[in-house]
Amino acid sequence: MPMHQGSCHCGAVKLKLPSTPTVATDCNCSLCRRIGGPWVYFEFGAVEITGHPDNTTSYIQGDRTLRTVHCKTCGCTTHWEPLDPKKHSKHGVNLGNFAPELIAAVPARKFDGANTWKFFDELPANESTPKGEAQPRVQPPTCYGSRCKPGPRQA
Ligand SMILES: [Zn+2]
Ligand SMILES: [Zn+2]
Repeated sequence: MPMHQGSCHCGAVKLKLPSTPTVATDCNCSLCRRIGGPWVYFEFGAVEITGHPDNTTSYIQGDRTLRTVHCKTCGCTTHWEPLDPKKHSKHGVNLGNFAPELIAAVPARKFDGANTWKFFDELPANESTPKGEAQPRVQPPTCYGSRCKPGPRQA
């Protein structure tokens, strides 16, 4: 099994993935569109992380279900983790901290966390291309909860 190791820009925080991700999520919610991604998801605890929490700070937003973690020195967001981890809780890793070859190899699905809470490839064409009319806000623009994860079709 290939070992994927990544780090923040300055190297103070290192991450080692337990397996090759098959899909990533590119989310447009209020937070993700600022801090980037794409995100890949693993069972909480499965990713080997060094330099955390010694070299990191975190940000807790919105519905307070999780914290995004970034390096104290270079500011790169490395991952997010649940505030109240349960059995089989997931957490997200920012794939941007890994080699360009890996980022290029993992297909990213665009997730409409800002609005419909669906992947754009699941939306009917008329929903994904609004013609100026206001979209109903079905959820607050915070995809960072447990729902911000790959869809049920993930292998
Ligand atoms: Zn750093
Ligand atoms: Zn998001």
